[in-house]
Amino acid sequence: MAVSFIGLGSNIGDREKYIARALSLLAANNEIKILKLSALYESQPIGIVDQDDFLNGVVSVSTTMSPEGLLNFCMQVESHLGRKRDVRWGPRTIDLDILLFDDIVMNTDELTIPHRELRNRRFVLQPLAEIAADVIVPDCKKSVRQLLRETDDKSRVQLSGRLNYC
Ligand code: ATP
Ligand code: CA
Ligand code: CA
Repeated sequence: MAVSFIGLGSNIGDREKYIARALSLLAANNEIKILKLSALYESQPIGIVDQDDFLNGVVSVSTTMSPEGLLNFCMQVESHLGRKRDVRWGPRTIDLDILLFDDIVMNTDELTIPHRELRNRRFVLQPLAEIAADVIVPDCKKSVRQLLRETDDKSRVQLSGRLNYC
């Protein structure tokens, strides 16, 4: 059994609903158990800035899946919720990124863990710190709290609210 942290993001339509539906689909998989869910935060888009603001959160899960299995399942959830993979960093109904997976460090064509942009994204570090401040990020051996303190990303990440979930 592994513990993984998954980043959730949406910036099209009813963003909260897409995040809630993604969580239900994760929870419905009998190889995944939801542990903790952060609050949701509003953040400005990166890369392509001419798009709507994002709603972001982080969920921790325990899973019997491999990292690749979890990624495949996350991609199925994204397709199921109408995610189109046309432009990277473009608008999306839902984005599920594997941030951490136990203390695994890996870098293949399909999967980089810890997520390669983790330390550069306040909109990920802030919700992650809410549920995992003391967790050590294995590639740099620093806690999430420390990465949040040190990140160069000074963009605004605003508390939006909590999902009525669980
Ligand atoms: P970013 O990766 O910068 O957050 P993105 O989420 O918009 O951008 P996607 O189009 O969702 O990018 O994913 C592109 C590819 O990233 C996926 O096909 C997947 O194989 C790969 N990938 C590598 N590492 C991870 C990870 N830790 N979690 C999710 N996808 C990953
Ligand atoms: Ca992403
Ligand atoms: Ca992604």
